[in-house]
Amino acid sequence: MTDKANRHLVAVIGAGPAGLYATQYLARHGVQVVLFNKEIKPGGLAEYGIFPDKTRMRLGLQRQFARILSIPEVFYLGNVSIGQNGDYRLDQLRRAGFQAFMVTTGAQQNNWLGLPGEDLNGVYQANDIVLQYNLHPDKVNWAPKFGKNVVVIGVGNVMLDIVHYLKLENVTRTVTAVARRGPTEVRFDKQTLAPVASCLDMPFIRKAVDEAGIELGKVGRDRDAFCSLLAEAQDKAEDCDSGLQFRMAFLRSPRRIIGDAQGNVQAIVFEKNHLASKEGRVVSQGTGEMETLPADTVIFSIGSQVDAAFGLPVGHGNFVTTPDPKYPVDGISYEVYNPDLCAECEDIFVSGWARKASEGIVGLARKDAERGAEAMLGYLSGLPAQAESEAQAAIDRLPGLDKRLVTKGDLERLTEAEQAKAADLGLPEFKFGSQDAMLDVIERE
Ligand SMILES: Cc1cc2nc3c(=O)[nH]c(=O)nc-3n(C[C@H](O)[C@H](O)[C@H](O)COP(=O)(O)OP(=O)(O)OC[C@H]3O[C@@H](n4cnc5c(N)ncnc54)[C@H](O)[C@@H]3O)c2cc1C
Repeated sequence: MTDKANRHLVAVIGAGPAGLYATQYLARHGVQVVLFNKEIKPGGLAEYGIFPDKTRMRLGLQRQFARILSIPEVFYLGNVSIGQNGDYRLDQLRRAGFQAFMVTTGAQQNNWLGLPGEDLNGVYQANDIVLQYNLHPDKVNWAPKFGKNVVVIGVGNVMLDIVHYLKLENVTRTVTAVARRGPTEVRFDKQTLAPVASCLDMPFIRKAVDEAGIELGKVGRDRDAFCSLLAEAQDKAEDCDSGLQFRMAFLRSPRRIIGDAQGNVQAIVFEKNHLASKEGRVVSQGTGEMETLPADTVIFSIGSQVDAAFGLPVGHGNFVTTPDPKYPVDGISYEVYNPDLCAECEDIFVSGWARKASEGIVGLARKDAERGAEAMLGYLSGLPAQAESEAQAAIDRLPGLDKRLVTKGDLERLTEAEQAKAADLGLPEFKFGSQDAMLDVIERE
C-alpha cells in the first residue's frame, strides 16, 4: 500500500482526530507530513471534549494517536498556531517548502444568538464548561458557578454531557433543556442519555411532548422515536442519587435574558413557536406569545463555528470549499480554492469539523479526513516529489519562535510522566492541567 516513491511534503494543521487520521492516511501513501498543533497535546476534542468518564474510549484513542505519531514519515510540532494571526502564516510554510495544506483546525468559536443579556453573570457556553472539566490549559484558572435552576439552550449530545456534569457537581436542582422545534429535533443518542436518564422529570417531559404533538401532527412528524428513546434509556437507568430534575421543553426560542441589579441571571424569556413545512424542512415560526422561565444559570449548547481569524473564507460557520472541485471524493469537495474568494489557495484542503462545524463524532471526523487526504493525493500527483530529508529541512527553514515547540520526543516524555503519576495516584489517567506544568515536565524529564 505504501508508495515509498511518493515523498511529497505537506503540512497538516490541527492535531485533533481529523488531523491525525489525515496524517495517517497520507503517511501510509508515502507522504512526509508535519503536523502542527496549537495545543501541546494532540487529540483536539478527543482529549479535551469527550466526557471524562469515557476512560476506555479516551485511552483507546490516545493509543491510536500515539501509533500514528510513531510513523517515521510523521513530524509533530505542538504549542504552535498557524493562520493570519498565528505563530506562522500559510505563506511562510509555503515558502519553507510545504507543497500542500490540510486544515483540520476544528470549530473553535462558540455560537451566540446575539440576545440581550448574553453578557450577564451566569451565562456560559457549554464548550467552555467542557474544556474546563477536561482540564484544557486555557481554562485551568476559570471556575463557572452553577445555580439551582439551569436552562440549557440546545438539545444535542453536548447538552447531555453538561447535564451529566451538573448531576455530578450536585449543586443544581433543575436543568431544563430547551429546543426551538419539537422532540424530533433532538440530536442525542441513547448512550449519552443513559447516565442522566434516571434524572428525567417524566411528568414534565410527557406534558411538553403532548403539547408539541399537536404541532408535529401539522407537519406530518410523529413523536414515537423520541418516546421510545426515552423509554429505553429509562429502563436501564439507575437511581438519580443527586436529586437533579432533568426536563425538556420544546417549541420555544430564547428572546432575552433578564438580570438582577448585580448583573446576575434571573430569568430567560422565550417566544412560543408553531411548526411549519418549508421547502421540505420543518421550521419554527414565532407566535408572538412570550413565556418567562426563572433561571440563575443559562448555558448555550448550540454548536460552534470555525475561527475566521485563521484567514480562509468562511460561510455558514465552515471554511468554504469550492462547489467545483478538481478532486472530489464521494461527491464531496475538500478544496478551498475558489478564484472569487481565495485565489491563492489551490494547495489548501479542509476536513473534519473545519469543513463541517460540530458535525458528528470521531468516526465521522476520521472518514472525512481520509476522504480529504485522498483529494489531496490527487493534487500532489501533479507535483514533483521531494527528498526524504525535506520535512526536517522545511522545519529548519521556518523563522525561530520565542517559545518552545513540542516534538514527538517531548510528547513521549509527557505521556510517560502522566502515566507514572496516574499509577502513583491509582487513577486510570492523569493530566497536567496548565501549559507551564506540561512544559516543565517536558524540560525536566
Ligand atoms: C463536548 C463534546 C463531547 C464529545 N464527545 C464525543 C464522544 O463521546 N465520542 C465521539 O466519538 N465524539 C465525541 N465528540 C465529537 C468529537 O470530539 C469530534 O468529532 C472530533 O473531535 C472532531 O475532530 P476535528 O479534528 O475535526 O476537530 P478538533 O477535535 O476540534 O481538533 C482541532 C485541532 O486543531 C487545533 N487547532 C485549532 N486551531 C489551530 C491553529 N490555528 N493552528 C494549529 N492548530 C490549531 C486544536 O488545537 C485541535 O487540536 C464530542 C465533541 C464535543 C464538543
